[in-house]
Amino acid sequence: MLDKSFHDCIDVDFAWDLVKRFSGQPREKPADANRGAEIIVEQLRSSGIPVTVHEPILFLSLPGPASIEIGGKRFQAKPPAFSAIVPSGLTAPMEYMAPTRREFARHQRLDPERYRGKIVVTEGISLPMLTSEIEEMGAVGIIAVNPGERIHWSTASTIWGTPGIEAMARLPKIPSAGVNRNDGAIILAAAQRRETATIRTELEQGWFPQKLPVVHIDGAIEPDRFVFLHGHYDSWQVGVGDNGTGNACMLEVARVLWQMREKLRRSVRLAWWPGHSTGRYAGSTWYLDAHAADFAKGCIIQMNCDSPGCRWATDYSVITMMAETVYAVTALVERVTGQKPKPKRPNRSSDYTFYNIGIPGAFMASSMMPGVDIEKRGWHRVGGCGGNIAWHTEDDIMEIADRGVLSKDIALYLEAVLTFANPQVLPFDFGAAIKEISATVDAYVKAAGHRLDLGSVARALEVLAAKVGGFHKAVAEGRIAARAANEAMRELSRALVPLNYARGGPYEQDPAVTLPPVPLLSIAADLDVYDRNCIGFALATLLRGRNAALDAIDRADAAVIRAMAN
Ligand SMILES: [Zn+2]
Repeated sequence: MLDKSFHDCIDVDFAWDLVKRFSGQPREKPADANRGAEIIVEQLRSSGIPVTVHEPILFLSLPGPASIEIGGKRFQAKPPAFSAIVPSGLTAPMEYMAPTRREFARHQRLDPERYRGKIVVTEGISLPMLTSEIEEMGAVGIIAVNPGERIHWSTASTIWGTPGIEAMARLPKIPSAGVNRNDGAIILAAAQRRETATIRTELEQGWFPQKLPVVHIDGAIEPDRFVFLHGHYDSWQVGVGDNGTGNACMLEVARVLWQMREKLRRSVRLAWWPGHSTGRYAGSTWYLDAHAADFAKGCIIQMNCDSPGCRWATDYSVITMMAETVYAVTALVERVTGQKPKPKRPNRSSDYTFYNIGIPGAFMASSMMPGVDIEKRGWHRVGGCGGNIAWHTEDDIMEIADRGVLSKDIALYLEAVLTFANPQVLPFDFGAAIKEISATVDAYVKAAGHRLDLGSVARALEVLAAKVGGFHKAVAEGRIAARAANEAMRELSRALVPLNYARGGPYEQDPAVTLPPVPLLSIAADLDVYDRNCIGFALATLLRGRNAALDAIDRADAAVIRAMAN
C-alpha cells in the first residue's frame, strides 16, 4: 500500500451499517430516494464530516406497471424508464428482430418497410439505441425478452442527463416493455406467427427535487486540485448490491480521508448521485453542469463506485480504466487484491459524465464473480451486483452484499484515491493514450482512403507521441518541476480524453450510447454504407471531425512544449 496509516483506519462496521439501513430503504421513487440521501448525510455528520447537500430539480421517468396481451392472455412486464406512456394500451402486429445491430442494419437495407406500424419483439435488456432506430423506421412499440426469470429494470432513452431543449425530440415516442424468459418464449413464438399484441405501460414522468450530497476534503498542499470519487445512491427498489454497497464503500472512504486529511496532498471530493436510473445520469450531469469550471480547472481524475462488495465477487481480473491510467491503476489493483487486472476501455454508462470536459476515468464496477461461477449457475451476464443476476430486480436485497468483499473494495477505492491524491507528480501515462488513439486513427486513415486524407492526423499524433515520450522521461528524471508537469498533464487530459471518447464540445453531453473510439473520425469506418446521394454529407462530417481532431492534438502539443520550456 502507498500509505498503510490510511488503511489502518478502515472500519467496515461503519460501511456495513449503511448497507443494513439501505436494505430496508427503497431509493427508487423521488421521495424514497431523498430519504436515502438523508441517511447518507446522517451517517456522514455522525462522524463529523462536513457535507453539502444540493437539491437540483431533475427530469425523471418512473416506471410503473406494464403488461403485454396476446390473444386474451396477459403477461406481466416492466417498462424501462423513459418508455412512452400508454396506459390504455397500443395494439399492433408483432415482428421479430434479432438483437444485434448488424442484423438490424441488414434488415433495414433489405426491407426498410418491414417494421412500420409493428411492435418489434427482440431479445435483450436495455435497448435505447434499438428503440430510437426502430422508432425512426416507423415501429410503434418494442418488447424486450429478458434472458432470466426476473425482468430487469432498464432505460429506453439515448439522452444523457436532463435533455436540453434541442435533445427533447429524442425522448422515446414509442412504448417499450421487458418480459421474462418464460413469457418471452410464448411471445417470441407468437411474433414469429406475426400475431397482434397489446402493450400497456404506466410511468410517471416529470420534474422532481432530489438531494445530492457532496463531501469535499481539502488537500493540505494542493487544495485547488481534486480527485473525484462518485456513485449513484438511487436504486431500483432497495438495490443493496446496486448500489447500497457502493454508497457504503464511499462513506467509509470519506470517513478515513476526513480523519487523515492532514496527510492528503490534494483535495478529494465525493458525490452520491440521484437520478442515475430514472434520470439516465441526471444527477451527475446536473452537478457537472453546475460546476463545470471547477472540473475543468481542478479535477484530476474521476472514479466511479458501482456495485462493489457483493457476494461471491472475488474476481478483479478485468477493471475499467482509460489508457493513461493503466500503469497506475493496474499496479494499485494488484497491490490491494494480488490480482493483475486486464484494462477495459470504459463504455458510456455508470455516470461517466466527464468525457466531453476531458477528465480521465477509472473503475465502474470493481469486484465481479468469476466467469466460471456465473456459467456454472447457468446465469446470463449482468454489469452490476458483482455479476449476481439479482441486478436491477426485486431480488437485489441484503443477501447480495458481502462484508468481506466490501472490506476489500473499500481498501481498493481508498488506495485508488491516494494513488492520485498524494504523489507529488501525477502517475498518468499519456504515451499509452496516444498509442491507443494512433492505432484507431491508423485504421480510419485506411478506411477513408482516397475519399478523404486523414494522414495529417496520423502524422500529428506521431509527432505528439515523440514529444510526450520526451516529456514523461524528463518528468521521471526530475527535469520538470512537479507543478509544471501536473499542469501539462491536466491540459493533456482536457485535449486527449475528448479526442479518444467524445464527439460534442466540452460543455455538452454526447448521447447515452457508447461511441466508437476517436468519435470525431469514426464515420471514416462507415463510408461504404453511404450511397452516391449521401456520401457528400458523410464526408462533410468527417472533414469537420478532422479539423477538431487536429485542434485537440495542437492543444496537447502546446501543453507539452510549455512544460518542457519550464
Ligand atoms: Zn449501479
